[in-house]
Amino acid sequence: MSDTTAATGPSSGYRVRRPLTTTELTALRDRIDTAPTVQDLLVTVVVGVFGALLDDLGETVTDRSPDDRVDPRQYAIPQTQWQAITAAATNRANAFGDAVTLALELTNLMPAVYDDPAIPVPDLTGRDHRPDQYRLEFSRDAGDEIAACEAHLTALAGQYGTGSATYRMALDSWHRQLAGLFSTRLGAATTVHRDGLLSFTVVTEPGLVYGVIFHGQQRRCTSGDCHAVADATPPGSAEHPTWRPAHTGAAVLDHEHIPTYPFGAPQPGTWTSHS
Ligand SMILES: [Zn+2]
Repeated sequence: MSDTTAATGPSSGYRVRRPLTTTELTALRDRIDTAPTVQDLLVTVVVGVFGALLDDLGETVTDRSPDDRVDPRQYAIPQTQWQAITAAATNRANAFGDAVTLALELTNLMPAVYDDPAIPVPDLTGRDHRPDQYRLEFSRDAGDEIAACEAHLTALAGQYGTGSATYRMALDSWHRQLAGLFSTRLGAATTVHRDGLLSFTVVTEPGLVYGVIFHGQQRRCTSGDCHAVADATPPGSAEHPTWRPAHTGAAVLDHEHIPTYPFGAPQPGTWTSHS
């Protein structure tokens, strides 16, 4: 008799307390992966887990009377397996957009757990439904604008320094948006169009459309009681836009305004995406 079966029975406090076998886990994984609805998924997990444990007692899930329902608290599996099973089921439920309900119901229906560091975390990663190949297309002017964004970052580094918050925030936000274009969770093809200065429209194959927009900082006067603003100018431009009130009735002091960033300097800002 092995250690795991020795722990089963009245002395353990559980009717059955053991790790699921690799065969049982593989069968469970395949059924989770192919469950057509969230309700089927729930039944699959519950029947799969308790079917395996009840088999030790020569019992089944289905042939039971109303007075003899399975009490989940009388059965136990290792914590690592419990977590992997609920994670796999929840992940699959994401496809149905109903992961929260499933997670809550599973918590009530799954067996108890026990700690066994010797039991490895099982790999229940399901079939990958994403496309094998992914196509990213961009128009010529979008390509030019991507180059302009890179040039803007270089200009920000030159003006404010590579260690400055201005540069770091702009770089981080741009990198996040670029990385997002390489996500393979939005269909098999994505097209990028230019949409104004340093900004883009992204169209995914399933029809999701979102914008990647550069939000430039408004140039303000840093003097406490002065609410003057002045528009951005192209880097290196000798143009000196006039100061104006930030909004109607805003106080503008009669003094030499102190701009948040110099005239002729590249405009600080960050990129965000909007659907
Ligand atoms: Zn001012």
